[in-house]
Amino acid sequence: MTNINQYDFVISGGGLVGCTTALELSKKGFKCCLIEKNNIRETIKTNEFHPLSLNYRSIVLLKQFGIWENMTDAFYPITDLTIKSYNSLNRVTFSAEEISLNYLGCVVDRYKLLHTIRSLILKNESIIIYDESEINNIEEKNNLELHISNNKHIHTKHLIVSDGINSKLKESMSIKSKMIDYSQVSFIYNCQATFENNHALQLFNRYGVFAAIPYNKKSINLIMTIKKEYLKKFFQNDAIDLLLIKSIFNGFVSNIHSLNLISKYDLVTSRANEIYKNNILLLGNSSQLLHPVGAQGYNLSLRNLESLLNYCGTQNREISVNFKNLANSINKDRLSVFNNIDFATKIFINDKIPSKITSLIMITLLKTSSDLKNMFLKKILGIDKYSYLQIKGDT
Ligand SMILES: Cc1cc2nc3c(=O)[nH]c(=O)nc-3n(C[C@H](O)[C@H](O)[C@H](O)COP(=O)(O)OP(=O)(O)OC[C@H]3O[C@@H](n4cnc5c(N)ncnc54)[C@H](O)[C@@H]3O)c2cc1C
Repeated sequence: MTNINQYDFVISGGGLVGCTTALELSKKGFKCCLIEKNNIRETIKTNEFHPLSLNYRSIVLLKQFGIWENMTDAFYPITDLTIKSYNSLNRVTFSAEEISLNYLGCVVDRYKLLHTIRSLILKNESIIIYDESEINNIEEKNNLELHISNNKHIHTKHLIVSDGINSKLKESMSIKSKMIDYSQVSFIYNCQATFENNHALQLFNRYGVFAAIPYNKKSINLIMTIKKEYLKKFFQNDAIDLLLIKSIFNGFVSNIHSLNLISKYDLVTSRANEIYKNNILLLGNSSQLLHPVGAQGYNLSLRNLESLLNYCGTQNREISVNFKNLANSINKDRLSVFNNIDFATKIFINDKIPSKITSLIMITLLKTSSDLKNMFLKKILGIDKYSYLQIKGDT
């Protein structure tokens, strides 16, 4: 027996992006159905801290969405960020105070945030959830007819594909992606150490990119993206060379101990060539996986979601939204993020002389011009296009 239901939006994939999208579209009055492959009530609970760095703009958005207030104390504000490149003279520190903000961003545990958003979804009776299910087939008629693995057929005006990096739907839509293999491996460690509270560090040296991001008074994440040719230098018989790690973070983080590896992955990223076809839009990891140099994946997705919400607000709700104009504006933001990442990975993670000189000039300019420094800071916080006073009012 089949059930036939009609929706404004079906969202395939109930990760951070899909859940936030379903929640917000439903609040705007759209009839939504969320389809998740796994059990949506079973979000991973661990004693580990899986860091997700949210920039200022993302926190403003999560506040607007009514999500942030449910995070209670499960976030750690970052007020200062030091960027250091190649030699210790070549560094610049950004401070929230300089642009009259309380913080630059916050670090949260990704599973706590996901659990919080999923709890809100489960309380929202207007969102229909099919978990432990997936879309097997899409037929394009007047609307989209979706055949789901739970034997249901549903109809929708629009489909949002947020089913992650290995998206089956993207594949079935024949959307190709540009793959980038950086020949680097990323390691995330939780550890105990002594450091300046609320101060994060990103440093570039010939081995790769290293970040230290605190998440409480005594605990800090060391995020190390190491070029494969140097892996042997860092690991012998699978044990990490703690002395080398200590020397890299020297001057910022001391007394490092109790390291716990929580994640390790080969740095192969992807960028979808197209993000929509007719009434189907890709959002989140299904459309791009980014190099961690800017910690931007979810931050970018939230801005893309904001564009979707604004766009849908201006359209006639009786007819299907044409995603073309929306996709153009989302693509502008994506391209600018891709360009920034390409620039940073070329200039900072490269020990060739021209790159060293460019990185030295960049950091010297940032240090000597407060206007340039503030512009750069607002860009990485995602607030360059928003009125400063409006943002201040949102704190
Ligand atoms: C180690 C690491 C650190 C990161 N740090 C940051 C950071 O500091 N700041 C930042 O902004 N971003 C960061 N990111 C990126 C960020 O995590 C992602 O942008 C974000 O999680 C993307 O979420 P998503 O919902 O698109 O995908 P996912 O989280 O992958 O969710 C996809 C969902 O779809 C479900 N699914 C899969 N297949 C199907 C199917 N066929 N049908 C139905 N459901 C399906 C999955 O079960 C899952 O629930 C980081 C990423 C990594 C890997």
